[in-house]
Amino acid sequence: MSEAIERVKCLIIGSGPAGYTAAIYAARANMKPVMYQGSQPGGQLTTTNEVENFPGYPEGITGPQMMIELRNQAERFETDVRDGWITKVDFSGDVHKVWINDEKEIHCDTVIISTGASAKYLGLESEQKYLKMGGGVSACAVCDGFFYKNQEVIIVGAGDSACEEAHYLSKLCSKVTMLVRRDEFRASKIMEARVRNTENIEILLNTETVEVLGDDYGVTGARVKNRETGEEQDIPATGFFVAVGHKPNTDIFKDYITLDETGYIINEPGSSKTNVPGVFVSGDAADHVYRQAITAAGTGCMAALDAERYLAAKEAEMVS
Ligand code: NAP
Repeated sequence: MSEAIERVKCLIIGSGPAGYTAAIYAARANMKPVMYQGSQPGGQLTTTNEVENFPGYPEGITGPQMMIELRNQAERFETDVRDGWITKVDFSGDVHKVWINDEKEIHCDTVIISTGASAKYLGLESEQKYLKMGGGVSACAVCDGFFYKNQEVIIVGAGDSACEEAHYLSKLCSKVTMLVRRDEFRASKIMEARVRNTENIEILLNTETVEVLGDDYGVTGARVKNRETGEEQDIPATGFFVAVGHKPNTDIFKDYITLDETGYIINEPGSSKTNVPGVFVSGDAADHVYRQAITAAGTGCMAALDAERYLAAKEAEMVS
């Protein structure tokens, strides 16, 4: 029934640092933003232990605490933060239609997509156990590498991300063992060469993880298997990094928003604009390069400013 349709000026989808920063800016610009948190309130940072690289926290802060503070800041300016999951959108008209949990319909003047990306994992039970425990499994070397200073770590993957992260870890850790499942890398030649030329990175080709090993305190290593010989061995390590790609959470937008071949939203360079006027993107949903909380926050700010300018231009058009 049309009475049930809510009209909002600015809808923010997703509740990571991008979404909350967009909310703070949009709320302070009197756009009365409504935010739907999605399936992982707080986003990827809620799976991170300690955040030490976000400016303004000299002592560091835990990921979940940072998200609570961002939420408090957004709510201080009356952002309407709601539980719910966007299940369908229709961006074909001037008014952007969005459905929550397949039930509630909302009509939006502007939409800010901050749905992020999810790191892919191997799916092993032992990997998920130590990930949830916060005990040594990570999908972000830049976020968590520091905690393994002078220790031995393992990284899985053979793409550009894995090479970049292995190289990053090699500068902090005493040894990095890189597990490559095929007999070749997927990464660009230059990235592969950098890894191969780093003394404290050992590369094991044709190698898959059988199990992440650990005790009550966290990871102690991994049991790996050579896919050609079937031979298994245990590798000691206190950190188990997974760099097997990310999946942007953009599936529901694909009929309207231009995505690249891996599903990332293509934004207008230097802005948060998508191909649909009035729909903006911020954070990892459009970023496979930097993927940091601080860059997500920066683009969240951009999206709110772009949305505000879009609304102002529309209002000016209506007046003239
Ligand atoms: P990617 O290119 O898709 O590579 C994923 C890697 O993980 C592949 O080597 C893949 O192995 C491996 N993998 C996947 N599932 C696995 C499993 N279950 N067990 C073991 N290994 C598994 O992902 P990415 O490295 O994140 O890069 C994504 C995009 O961003 C790429 O286009 C990349 O070029 C770009 N990127 C660029 C830069 C840069 O230029 N500085 C840095 C980072 C990323 P297979 O090879 O066997 O499939």
